[in-house]
Amino acid sequence: MTIHTLLNNLNIQEPFYSISTGLNEQVGQGEKIVISSPADGKTIGEVRLAEASDYNAVIVKAKEAFPIWRTLTAPQRGEIVRQYGEELRKEKENLGKLVSYEMGKSLQEGYGEVQEMIDICDFAVGLSRQLYGLQIHSERPNHRMFEQWHPLGIVGIISAFNFPVAVWSWNTALAWVCGNVCVWKPSEKTPFSAIACQEIFKRVLERNDLPEGVSNIIIGDSSIGNLMASDTNISLVSATGSTRMGKSVAETVAKRLGKTILELGGNNAMIVTEHADLTQAIPAIVFGAVGTAGQRCTSTRRLLVHESQYETLKEKLVDAYRQIRIGNPLDENNHVGPLIDTDAVTNYQNTIKTAQEQGGYICVGGQVLEGAMYQSGCYVEPTIIEAHSAMEIVKHETFAPILYLMKYQTLEDAISLQNDVPQGLSSAIFTLNMREAETFLSATGSDCGIANVNIGTSGAEIGGAFGGEKETGGGRESGSDAWKGYMRRQTCTVNYGTELPLAQGIKFNL
Ligand code: NAD
Repeated sequence: MTIHTLLNNLNIQEPFYSISTGLNEQVGQGEKIVISSPADGKTIGEVRLAEASDYNAVIVKAKEAFPIWRTLTAPQRGEIVRQYGEELRKEKENLGKLVSYEMGKSLQEGYGEVQEMIDICDFAVGLSRQLYGLQIHSERPNHRMFEQWHPLGIVGIISAFNFPVAVWSWNTALAWVCGNVCVWKPSEKTPFSAIACQEIFKRVLERNDLPEGVSNIIIGDSSIGNLMASDTNISLVSATGSTRMGKSVAETVAKRLGKTILELGGNNAMIVTEHADLTQAIPAIVFGAVGTAGQRCTSTRRLLVHESQYETLKEKLVDAYRQIRIGNPLDENNHVGPLIDTDAVTNYQNTIKTAQEQGGYICVGGQVLEGAMYQSGCYVEPTIIEAHSAMEIVKHETFAPILYLMKYQTLEDAISLQNDVPQGLSSAIFTLNMREAETFLSATGSDCGIANVNIGTSGAEIGGAFGGEKETGGGRESGSDAWKGYMRRQTCTVNYGTELPLAQGIKFNL
């Protein structure tokens, strides 16, 4: 199947538009950019970036749609999300392939991303009947006090290239059932996957006679993200990406006292203790470190190994890395695809050089791949570097398959090493020892938003709240009670008596 058939199947037709609301009238006014696949370097298509005037037009459409959408009951909104989930089931193969081709992740991971969208739709449908508020006993007689939750308005979603569709759906499925309309600025590196999602949802809106402004997409660069951050029309900005971007968005939104959900960089460690089952740990380490070519926010970047297991594990890992097949992600025989672009390759090379200068030793990998199979120039070897805690570079997130291998003596040291980075997203321990596992999960253990035992750092599932601490931004998305972030809480007190008693027994006699 060619990319053009794929795009046609997904109803993405030329010319490609920067905004889909009122598509036919409004083509983006800004610069035209060419999107090519990191898999083979071939052009997928061109998009025109949006400018401020396009942005304003999108906001008008979103504002018009909000009063219509919020008037539906939450279960009615859930029904629309259910239908979206059904469309995604039909399009899983087409959309999964497009994600894989545009972003460069393996086909299995492309399908997995679409499955995650389906899962969050299912979760949101159930949630649409469970947006509970509490009832609280009032101190005043004949009074009823309770809290309820209302939609916020327009939710702005800024997303990163590495999960071109799933992260949007985590946000939007919840935001929709909560009664919000959404404006999405996907990464300008992966616009086609985003346009496909919009086209699929548009079918559902049309079928149900609802305005397209319930879901809006705007293809733009950081200047559009910045407009969203400063726009008081946007009640909540949910931003996923680098810590640098998050700090900028947080500052701008805070200046107008708006709300944010921030899902930023990670620097995730796995601890392998003397009680670990290495047959379980090794595939978890390899998938965590090389899956999506190390371009997951939850990728395993640091491996802290007890001295008793260190040499054995190193040898087995190096052996496993030598068997990794790197190549076109659409070929299911390959384990690892390319990095997103050649800038990412330069970043990979610079990090390896710096690590060596700081005393790191390359155990395996370290090279950029060349030749006919790698013509996009984006393929690199997954790399393991023996490192030590004094190396400054291990505190940074490099979005590439680079794993730092470090030795420890006591669990206390390992936990302290793990926590001694600015980021706090995901963490894992491999141990069959209950005391070690529970210490790791205790208040003195991992300081991350995600802490796993005997599974790797990556591969979160829908249902649990996803997010991290410190420079990861503190946001929570997807599962548990993350929906509360997309609503405003209202505390209500109703007096059904004939008196007007005041709280705290205050007397006020007229
Ligand atoms: P990025 O920060 O370069 O871009 C992310 C998005 O933010 C893009 O849409 C971009 O256009 C926009 N943007 C950039 N600067 C902005 C600004 N100043 N104001 C407003 N918008 C701006 O990130 P990336 O390279 O696309 O993605 C990789 C990063 O994302 C990694 O750090 C990774 O850890 C992180 N990430 C985090 C999570 C999470 O859930 N914690 C998930 C995925 C990715």
